[in-house]
Amino acid sequence: MLKPINEVSLAKDLVRCQSVTPKDDGAINVVAKNLRKLGFKCQIMEFQEKGTAKIKNLYAKIGKSSPNFCFAGHTDVVPVGDLKSWTVNPFGGIIKNQKLIARGVSDMKGSIACFIAAVSEFIKKNKKLKGSISLLITGDEETIAINGTQKVIEKLIQKKEKINFCIVGEPTNENKIGEIIKIGRRGSITGHLTVIGTQGHVAYPHSSNNPSTIIVEILNKIKKLKLDRGSKDFQPSNLEVTKITIDNNADNMIPAEAKASFNIRFNKLHTSSSLKNKLNKIFSLITKKAKASYKIKYHVSGESFLTKPNKTVHMIKNIIKKSTGISPVLSTSGGISDARFIKNIAPCIEFGLIAKTIHQVDEMAKVSDLKKLKNIYLDILVNYFK
Ligand SMILES: [Zn+2]
Repeated sequence: MLKPINEVSLAKDLVRCQSVTPKDDGAINVVAKNLRKLGFKCQIMEFQEKGTAKIKNLYAKIGKSSPNFCFAGHTDVVPVGDLKSWTVNPFGGIIKNQKLIARGVSDMKGSIACFIAAVSEFIKKNKKLKGSISLLITGDEETIAINGTQKVIEKLIQKKEKINFCIVGEPTNENKIGEIIKIGRRGSITGHLTVIGTQGHVAYPHSSNNPSTIIVEILNKIKKLKLDRGSKDFQPSNLEVTKITIDNNADNMIPAEAKASFNIRFNKLHTSSSLKNKLNKIFSLITKKAKASYKIKYHVSGESFLTKPNKTVHMIKNIIKKSTGISPVLSTSGGISDARFIKNIAPCIEFGLIAKTIHQVDEMAKVSDLKKLKNIYLDILVNYFK
């Protein structure tokens, strides 16, 4: 008889892998090894776009029939930052004052451990699973995220693999387990703008055309755009200028070019293309008037999306409320996550540990919170397959 997997010891094994993105350091194999013991079929998928590091991903599944309940997550972590400021070795798997302090424990190796521990208890009691359980784990979420979940999803679509519901284990709560379920996210688009003027001597401005004046006017205009006022499910869209560069070493010279970057987090009232159209019109109008020209390069990290609360979302909300005493808010706040790819094949929500210490020195998860989350995942499985 197999002993159920303990969430704390598995979390310790995972954080001991120094999987600072894009390195894996054995983390995906730790997950696969544990799942194989439980009877999962594990498929390792490696992807490598030109000029990037090779990334290991895992799609593991137990059961063949429908419905397929999936858990998604990532094993890569952000760098430790200032190592001297940590009170413990960030990859030691050390528990101090009933807290597991380690890089990546909340974001999000801890929740992977909780889900696997929950599955191990669940299949021990439910030998004949009516449906299937799967895990989609990637080593490429924290940076470019192009050799990870996006490509695994493309593969799964090719193979006509069906996922009926997915929970992503990102740390969604701010202070306490139970506060927030994410049911969608805003989209994100970055623009890199170059305004091209005419270089010249500052004493003879009539024979040059200063692009700095023009770019300031443009940035002022786009920052003041009222994109929308938000909606029932989303906060207002927002634009922030993130960089202004005018490369010029001489005090007596009008530069030829001025550059700026900006990022917009946008809700369902826009798409990346509707925003591009709106902005390009402004760039074109202002540069034309100023007898200059412009170049723009956009990068879209994801469109906005929303999972309309269905039966399963309400079931999960009730379980969290029963188990924590807190009624979770259904939210679309925060940055982007891999849910933006998964939503293409399945309704998808996010629920995990507490985000308070993520990406910080002494990132930690309370041992009691790991147990709480494991029990919530277990109750979700029990109710989903009931
Ligand atoms: Zn994360």
